[in-house]
Amino acid sequence: MKCYDCDLDGRGATTGIGICSRCNLVVCADHGHVTPTVLHRPGGLGKATRDRPGRRVVCRTCHAAEVSA
Ligand SMILES: [Zn+2]
Ligand SMILES: [Zn+2]
Repeated sequence: MKCYDCDLDGRGATTGIGICSRCNLVVCADHGHVTPTVLHRPGGLGKATRDRPGRRVVCRTCHAAEVSA
């Protein structure tokens, strides 16, 4: 699969490294942001988060949207 943003930029068919967890488009290492994410336990008492963080990939558009006001 090729990176959607590279395709838009006319950079050709750059191989994607992941899929944006928001818009589900394919992103390459340049355009994707891999961020740690804290996982939550469903329900239950006591600590609601898990000890180890997971990770997810978002594309630059969704990443910019997430950090925008
Ligand atoms: Zn790209
Ligand atoms: Zn996205």
